[in-house]
This record gives sequence, C-alpha cells and structure tokens, in this order.
Amino acid sequence: MTTHHPGRARPTRPTLVLVYQRTSLPWVFESAERAGIDLVLVPRPDETVSRDGLPPAVVDVLRLDVEADPAGALDALRRRYEERPFQGVVTLYDPAVPFVAEAAERLGLPGIGRDVALGAQDKRVMRERLAAAGLNVPGFVRLDHPDDWEKAARLAFPVVVKPAHGFSSLGVTKAESPGDLKGVVDEVWRTCASKLGRVDGLVVEEYLDGPEFAVESLAHGGDVRILTIGYKGDPQGPHFEEGVYRAPASLPADVEEDIRREVTAAHRALGITDGPTHTELRLRGGVTPYLLEMGARIGGSGVSQYIASGVTGIDFAAQALRIAAGTATEPLASGPPPEPVGAAANYIVPCGGSGRISAIRGLAELRDDPRVDHVVQMLFPGDVVRPYPDFTGYPAFVLSRHADIAEAEEFHRFLERSIRIEFTDETDDGQGTDATARTARTARTAKTDRTDGTDHGGPE
Ligand code: ADP
Repeated sequence: MTTHHPGRARPTRPTLVLVYQRTSLPWVFESAERAGIDLVLVPRPDETVSRDGLPPAVVDVLRLDVEADPAGALDALRRRYEERPFQGVVTLYDPAVPFVAEAAERLGLPGIGRDVALGAQDKRVMRERLAAAGLNVPGFVRLDHPDDWEKAARLAFPVVVKPAHGFSSLGVTKAESPGDLKGVVDEVWRTCASKLGRVDGLVVEEYLDGPEFAVESLAHGGDVRILTIGYKGDPQGPHFEEGVYRAPASLPADVEEDIRREVTAAHRALGITDGPTHTELRLRGGVTPYLLEMGARIGGSGVSQYIASGVTGIDFAAQALRIAAGTATEPLASGPPPEPVGAAANYIVPCGGSGRISAIRGLAELRDDPRVDHVVQMLFPGDVVRPYPDFTGYPAFVLSRHADIAEAEEFHRFLERSIRIEFTDETDDGQGTDATARTARTARTAKTDRTDGTDHGGPE
C-alpha cells in the first residue's frame, strides 16, 4: 500500500506490528502517522477490516489468532519477520500484552519480556512483587478454588474479589462482610468461567477506601516519566463500572509527590523498564497511594493517548511507538509531570439499567459541542444490555478538552443530566441483537463519520 516513487530515495521508516487494535479508535493510528511509523495491523479475529477503510499508517494486515493459537501466531510472526523485517510489536489490548512481549523477546526486538509482562498482568504476582519491594499493598489472599473461600475470611472487611487475570473490571465484586464471602466468591468464579472461558484463580483483597486515579507514564531504559495523573471517581461497588476520567487531577503537592514516587517504584518492582504504562490506584484513607494495577501498555484502547496528549501537549503514543521500534533517542525527562497545557476528559456513559435499548438520548446533540472531540458509540437502540455482573460493554465514551479540570467537572455534570438510555419493558426473548455476541456496529458520531467496526467492551 505504500507508494514508491522511482528515482526518489525512500526514507527508512520503522514498521511496527500492532496487535488487536480497533480501527474505530483512532488515536494510536494518528500518532503512528505523525511519528512516521508504518503499522502492520493484526485485527481482532472477529473484526472485518476493509483495506480501503484503514487508517493511513497501516501498510499491511496480518491475520493471527493470538488467544486461541499463540504458538501458531508466534510462528506466523516469525515468518513475516524473516520475509519482511519489522522493528517492534505492540498492543493496547491487555490480554495480548504477554504475547507481544514474548514475540518481541523471541525476535530480539525491544520490549519488557514475557516474564515481566505475565507478572504485571497476574494480580497475585503483581501484589507479591510490590510487597517484596516494600510498596503499599492491601492485605490479600489468593484462591485457587472457590471452596478455599474461608482462607480470605481473616482479611479486614470489606474486601474485593476479582479474577487473577481480569480486565475491564470483569467480575470484580465487593463483599461487605465474611458472611457474604462465599456467595461472592462463587458468583465471581461463575462469571469469570463464563466470560473468560477459564479461571486461573481469584484474588481477595482489602477494600481501599478513597478516590481513584489513573497515571500515564513512559519508561525507557529503566527511567520513568510520569506524564499525567487523572481523577477516576470514587466508586463504592459492589460492582465497579468505569465512569469518569478527568486530568490533570487537582491534588495537594505532597500527595502528588507520593503518587509519583509509588508509581515510579512500582515500575522497578515489576521490572517494567521500557514502554508506556497505565496505572490505576486508590488513595487509601484519602491520602496514601495503593496500586490497583499497572498495565504495560497505553490504557483504555488509546483513551490514555487522548488524555495524556491533551493535558501535556506531548504525543504520548508516538513516544511509546518509538520506544517499541527502538528509535527513541532522547532520554526521558524525570521530575514532576510536565506543566499542563489544558484539561482532557473521558465520560463513559453508564448503562443505567438492563434490557433492550429503545433510545439513547442526549448523545447526538454533542456533535456540535466545541468541547467534544469524539463520541465513540458502542451500543445502539435494539441492543440488549444484560444485568450486572454480566458485562455487556459500555454504551459510549465522550472525549472532551477544557481549559481546566473545573470546566471538565462541570461538563461531566451536564452529561450526567443530559444523556439517558431508555429500555423497553420486554424481557430478552433470545431473538434480538446481543451486544457482546454479535459483531456490533461502532460509530464515532461526533466530528467524524460513522465507521464500520466491531464491538468494543470498554477501556481495557
Ligand atoms: P480490572 O483489571 O479488571 O480492571 P481492577 O483490579 O483494576 O481490575 O479493578 C477494577 C476496579 O475495581 C478498580 O478500578 C476499582 O474501582 C475497583 N477495585 C478493585 N480492587 C479494589 C480494592 N482493593 N479496593 C477498592 N476498589 C477496588
């Protein structure tokens, strides 16, 4: 697809294999284009991509089934590499992070390696590694079988029960008292078995009271640069749907410094020396940062790129892609996060109920709102939202930019009032459109035309 001009020297452009990124979520593709990096896109197995509709940075499409056949996918990547070498492999999709790390390691390309990727992704190993490094870790217990639930009864309640390998808050559930524990453990086990296909164990950990924050960082050669700290709400459970993301968070200087220190140290403890990270943490007691997770990837399927670049003016994803291609040359500046150039926000429209969607009010009007850059819509009238804890996906994201965080807050209060999902009374007869089982339509309704795409569960 690249055009060759005879007689004109073609500058050497690095090529990266990008695994499982939806083309309907544009940010990382745009960054690659700006950075002069070509992409070989590995679409999700359920996604139909038409070559005409691909973002300009995509020069080739490679079909791999990373989850069902990782060995076959590794072989196919090696063959592609031997035929036409590429400089790196990346993903924004959390379950594919260990695959990508292993592929890069085997091909001698930049990356964090399989062990580090698996350790960061497995919440049991992550907690153990953070604790061994003396970082803040809530009391936790690993359960290899639901019948072992009593092992967790000694923890200080409330507790949170979650799969060791979860993402998108799948199955994550609060248990208020030891009397609730068995029921919650059974329910989480069942939900994960049906939605993830297998359960490799659960983690039960003490509930961290206090507001939640997301931190976007870049690591390179072991140096860590924190770009933004954003507010993620104060979800109380029992289930934890994603809600708001507003950056830069307004925090007392000493708390911000504690977050920075904890997150930097966590990179070291987990061995994440290179690439982007997306960290989620809560301030226990309102002051002390405790990590919930650290993903060795750009967060939110690219939403983190929108937020971090909107706040700092730095092309976060372009830097991350350069690190993955081995072409990042400048050392990372350490120190406090860069001075914000503005505020950026993501509002995840809550389902607000279950059943068949009859109408979604208040989204179309945002098309002309100057604060809004994108409305990414995943659910549509006719789709069926199943009741929690069965996760159907999020209806839509609204991505916006503002002069400061106060304006972002005010805008989110407006969205809370103005967006409403209506459901029909009928119960699902099994005949209708099921939002997760089918190939959904994804559209960016504001600022862009509707695009063909597929379902998108949420900011993984
Ligand atoms: P996932 O990887 O599935 O997103 P997380 O561990 O990040 O799982 O949990 C999802 C959400 O559940 C978090 O963003 C947070 O709101 C809530 N949560 C998880 N663990 C705890 C905890 N120990 N205390 C308080 N809230 C928690």
